[in-house]
Order: sequence, then C-alpha cells, then structure tokens
Amino acid sequence: MPLNIYVTIKTTLRCNLACKYCYGRDNHAAGSEMTDVEVKRATDFTAEYAKTVGARSVTFCWHGGEPLLMADRLLSLIDHANAACSARGIKASHGTQTNATLLIPSTYGLIRKHFGGYVGVSLDLYSPYRTYPGGRTSTDVAVGNIDRALSAGLQCGAINLITKDNLGRVADIYDFYKQRKMNVRLARVFPISADDAMQSPMYVSDEEFAAALIEYFDLWTSDPQPAYNTDIVKLVADLLLGSPSICLREAECHKRYLALSPGGDIFSCAEFDTPDAVIGNFLTQSPTEFARSDARERLAACAPLPGKCRECRYLPTCNGSCLRERYVLGYPYRCLSNRLYWDHVVAWLEDRGCSLYMLRGKSPAEKREIIDRIFKKQ
Ligand code: SF4
Ligand code: SF4
Repeated sequence: MPLNIYVTIKTTLRCNLACKYCYGRDNHAAGSEMTDVEVKRATDFTAEYAKTVGARSVTFCWHGGEPLLMADRLLSLIDHANAACSARGIKASHGTQTNATLLIPSTYGLIRKHFGGYVGVSLDLYSPYRTYPGGRTSTDVAVGNIDRALSAGLQCGAINLITKDNLGRVADIYDFYKQRKMNVRLARVFPISADDAMQSPMYVSDEEFAAALIEYFDLWTSDPQPAYNTDIVKLVADLLLGSPSICLREAECHKRYLALSPGGDIFSCAEFDTPDAVIGNFLTQSPTEFARSDARERLAACAPLPGKCRECRYLPTCNGSCLRERYVLGYPYRCLSNRLYWDHVVAWLEDRGCSLYMLRGKSPAEKREIIDRIFKKQ
C-alpha cells in the first residue's frame, strides 16, 4: 500500500456556477451536501482506513461542487480531520480547488490556516463556457478575485481549459499566468460518455490540443525569463526518469486515490461520479470492510491497460493514461494528444543531448547536473 493516500471530500455537489463542460453536469451521485456529521464521519473513516492499510499520510482535497460555498464550516471541520489523523499517527495535509468566484477576503483565513495560503483555481480564459446559471460568464469575477487574493499574499495555481474559442489565444494565456507567477496546467473538456457527440466548440481535437500544448511549451522554452510552471518541469522530469509525478500518468491510481461523496458513496477518485462506479460507502461500511473489499480491483479490471500501450515508448511515464478515461470511454482519451506533445518535448531534449529515461540509475548529483544543463540552455 502506498505511503500516502489522496482523498477528495466532495463536501457539497452544489455549485454557484453552471459551467457547460462540468464533469458533474450529469451527476447521479446520491445526496447533494454533507452535513457536518457526515463530513466528520468521512474524515474519521479516512483516518482509520489510512491506518488500516498502513499509509503514513493523507492528502485531503476539499472539493465539490464548489467547496468555498462551505468555507465557514470547513474551518472547524478540517480541524476535526487533523485531530482524527493525528490520533492515529497519520500526517494530514489539505488542498482545495475552486471556481474562484467565491474567493473573497472572508475565505482567506481558511486558506491561510489549512491550505498553506495556496488555492487551486479553474479558469477558461478567453472562452465562454464557465457560466452562472443565467448564462453570464464568470471569468471577470474569477480573475478579479484571483488578483485580490494574490495581492493579499495568497498563491494560486490554475487549470485552464482549452476550447475552440481560445485556441488562438495561447500566447495571451501564457502572459496572463506569467504576469501573476501562477503555475498552470492546460486541460481540455472531457466527454462524459462514449456517445457524447462532441459537436460543441468547447471540445478540441487531439491535434488541436497538442498544438496548444506545444505552442505553450515553445513560448516557455524560448522565453529568456520563462514563466513559473511546475507542470512543464514535472513532465520533463517524468520523461527523463520514466516515473510519473501526477495521477494522470500513475499506474494503479485506484490504489492510492479515493473520493467520498454526499450520501456516503465512495469512488475511485473525484472524476468518477456515476452509480456503476461506486466502490463502497463510508456511512454503511467500516474502514476495515472497505479495505478488505475487492471493489477497486474490480473497477480497475473493467478498464485494463490497452494492448497498444505495451509497445509504446511512453509506457513507463504514461501507464496507459487516466483510468477513468478508459473506464468511461473504453480507450485512453488523451493518448494521441499526449504522444504528439511528448514527441515534441523529447525532440527538444534530444536537441540538448538528452534522451528519454536517461536519468534512470543516475546518482542524485548526476541528475542535478543534467537537469541544470537542460534548463540553463533554455
Ligand atoms: S482515474 Fe484519472 S483522474 Fe482519477 S486518479 Fe486515476 S488518473 Fe487521476
Ligand atoms: S501514450 Fe498512449 S499508447 Fe502510450 S502508454 Fe500512454 S495511453 Fe498507452
């Protein structure tokens, strides 16, 4: 069992926005918001489960819906989670991901106290799908709140969606995050079922998405003072080491990630939310029962590693990509866009005398020397 487990607590499925691409737009999970008692049972369950499986630490992601709708309640609920973990010798840490429209000064205390002054935000700059229920876009409100939070000394990192509307604005997106010293990961809208028609301009093709990633990478590598971006650095490290640093490239993520929803449902991670993917219930099962259950293995067996991955040079870094994509769609949705992008990054590395997986087996000093050489030449 991994030393760290990562647990998303979906405290509420309510959201003040109605984004057109929300992965929860077809949300079937039972219930809509955890009571305080349920949140405490969720965190007690997590702490006891972590102890049962021999994990040393838990990273909690406070999620939704929109988690800042519960900002007042989270202050003491996270205290409870810390006490539950500490009583069992488990180290707890916390993060959150918000749509930033409620990232107002009254939430800064929570962010400073429990999230180390850091908050993850979702944005789709220059694109109109992140909307209030009436249809008005929320980007201006979110950007105003982010700027105020940064001025108040908080740090923000973003996931920015690429759609057909902002495909031509990659340089502006780069500048936006560079000016604010914000890390960003570019993402794309995920079809929520195999028969999702994908006719909307919110969807970009594999080639279009890869082109956006490549353009961003080229802006970064050609910038004399490159933007702060750990996402690119992690990818480069993963390609050199052949060991994934994020769940999307992790083998057997189902063993390390969990998501707990209102009504008690347990999912393999926050991206799963349909009844067929429920793997347990924190209100009706004990942590020991859940730990003994083979539900996670059965879920993973429904989405095995595709045969083509065994022949792929990126297998050590990619591991067949996201389990949920394979589960929902039957194939690794981001495979082609990743390969197109990574081929470009590997060519850039080769131009610097480096090659795929060359850091394997090297000493820490040798690794440092090679990484310095790569980035100094930038
Ligand atoms: S299913 Fe996908 S999103 Fe969920 S933990 Fe695994 S790789 Fe990450
Ligand atoms: S890049 Fe595609 S083929 Fe290669 S391991 Fe990943 S999902 Fe499989």
